Amino acid sequence: MTLKYDFHSHSIYSDGTLTPVELIDYAIERGVECLALTDHDTISGLREAQDYIDQNQLPIRLIKGLELSALTDYGEIHIVGLGVDDTDEHLLAALKLQQEKRWLRAKEIDRRLQKIGVNGVYEVCAKQVKQVVTRSHIARAIVELGYAKDLSQAFKKYIGKKGRIKVDKDWISLENAIEVIRKAHGIPVLAHPTRYPISNRKLGFLIQEFTENGGEAIELAYPSLSPDKMAWLKIHQESNNLLASCGSDFHYPDMRWTDLGRFPRIDANIPHVSERLI
Ligand code: AMP
Ligand code: MN
Ligand code: MN
Ligand code: MN
Repeated sequence: MTLKYDFHSHSIYSDGTLTPVELIDYAIERGVECLALTDHDTISGLREAQDYIDQNQLPIRLIKGLELSALTDYGEIHIVGLGVDDTDEHLLAALKLQQEKRWLRAKEIDRRLQKIGVNGVYEVCAKQVKQVVTRSHIARAIVELGYAKDLSQAFKKYIGKKGRIKVDKDWISLENAIEVIRKAHGIPVLAHPTRYPISNRKLGFLIQEFTENGGEAIELAYPSLSPDKMAWLKIHQESNNLLASCGSDFHYPDMRWTDLGRFPRIDANIPHVSERLI
């Protein structure tokens, strides 16, 4: 695999700040030759990105992807789907449901924020969100309204893991998330496994359960993953016979540590999703 690739990125259709066109331009500028756009719970940005590439015959290959929020016995996880058919009706129906649940969650978070004196968040979000509302949008609204000095503080104080606002999640199940991606001809990938707040033992079980339910790949390289954690993941990738995927989880250019195409390298001999996608 000699192409420079990145199999995890976001656009303005979820919580990225670039439009699909800007993202493609930026990827080319960064020397990325193969890019997966994997917005949270939507595939709506893919057409724009592909049309822009086709119309201008740009030197980049787009992998059609998405990132589903899913519920498991171990809490919320993210499942990336790579190489999906973006006209698949079951996938589109599942995404519509996820998006509706996201708006309901935003409304509930707003209600709880109001109770502690933080007002106007939902209205700001409703104006700024293109399609999928995320906690990133809520955090931006909190900052814009002056209740936190930056995004990090908004998460810490209010809507992060240890923040004051706790809202139950109601996402698609692990089984259904994998099924809907596979039925749309995509490869289900367990995203950034070490970022979930669970023990290694539970993470091992989660990877096994993901595989038993038809999961086919696991992210083995992403920003801030230490070499020892990568080595740990590699053991589980091998024992579960999973393909490896790698990506930056890019959201915006000023966050340098997750810049497009920027993540640790993995051994060239590890079986990789690129072999099925490119
Ligand atoms: P959601 O899927 O709506 O729960 O939103 C999760 C998104 O919020 C993630 O994909 C990240 O982009 C962002 N996020 C989560 N935690 C933080 C944090 N502590 N600081 C900044 N962004 C965060
Ligand atoms: Mn995000
Ligand atoms: Mn994620
Ligand atoms: Mn992501």
